[in-house]
Amino acid sequence: MMSPVEQKLQTVAADLLSTEKVDLVIAYERGTAGIGVRPAFICDPANTDRLVYNPLCGHNLSVYLHRHKDKKVAIVAKPCDTRSLVGLIQERQIERDSLTILAVPCEGVIDPTRLEALAPAEKTRSLAIENDQLIIETDNGQQHTPLKDLLSPGCCTCTITEPVISDQLLGTSNRQPCKTDEFAQIKVLAEKTSQDRWEDFCAEMSKCITCFACRNACPACYCTTCFVDASGPKWLGKTDDLSDVQIFHITRMVHMAGRCTGCGACLRACPMGVNLQKYTGKIRLDAREFFDFEAGDDPEVKPPLSTYSESDPNEFFM
Ligand code: SF4
Ligand code: SF4
Ligand code: SF4
Repeated sequence: MMSPVEQKLQTVAADLLSTEKVDLVIAYERGTAGIGVRPAFICDPANTDRLVYNPLCGHNLSVYLHRHKDKKVAIVAKPCDTRSLVGLIQERQIERDSLTILAVPCEGVIDPTRLEALAPAEKTRSLAIENDQLIIETDNGQQHTPLKDLLSPGCCTCTITEPVISDQLLGTSNRQPCKTDEFAQIKVLAEKTSQDRWEDFCAEMSKCITCFACRNACPACYCTTCFVDASGPKWLGKTDDLSDVQIFHITRMVHMAGRCTGCGACLRACPMGVNLQKYTGKIRLDAREFFDFEAGDDPEVKPPLSTYSESDPNEFFM
């Protein structure tokens, strides 16, 4: 059965397209594997009945906006995704006036790998969240499972319960902000010696296979030619040799300074379970500490790396 959010999404999308208020709706549709979802790009109001919304809708769809800068776009956004939209507006990568933000209520998204171990996608008919339980309906009946056992990693510490920016709310949620400190692990690591931190970084990165899925999923990674793909000069080899892996991640993380919103898209995309947020989170903490800045908070505030002030902290300059 269709959820109220799904029903409203289909109606609103059909209306926006048929009245030509937008040229394109970026949302979710069923994938090829059972209950699984994939991004949907709908231009014809007759196709809006393909749109779905369920707890597997984890992709941060704002990553696709760069490819559609010439269009008026409506986009489905969870509360954390709206922070990415704010980041792109702050960096003048998208025009606010060309965008219609359809904000969905969020109770957390489910990690498909964790769910698969419990209920294979092809046998699952529907998923719903009620209080702290995930209700899984399969061919064999209903199963209730504690939500915390199935949430995506970023959702376990999420404090964002409302969209930062929106044009239409497709529903409401009663979710309370998590009380767990999302930076706890990062603060422990930051207290260690530089040698210990380097060893931690090398050990974590040794899992990386340089597939670049984290970069591809990141809304803040929008350079026309990424340094990874540049051939003149060639900055690094595309191998899983640890030195190439280190150069890739260190350079990308520096590029995230004052820009990472902590959306978790990179974590969800990584096939090897590399804990990237241990390091990008430190960069977010530094932006707070040095510049009192949180990426994705306010479209009117300029990011620290786009502005200059004589009072900027400068103890890190050589
Ligand atoms: S991080 Fe927060 S807003 Fe984003 S999907 Fe998870 S629970 Fe929802
Ligand atoms: S680095 Fe990861 S958490 Fe940060 S904005 Fe990019 S995808 Fe989101
Ligand atoms: S997605 Fe994971 S494995 Fe792929 S490059 Fe990023 S960290 Fe490495």
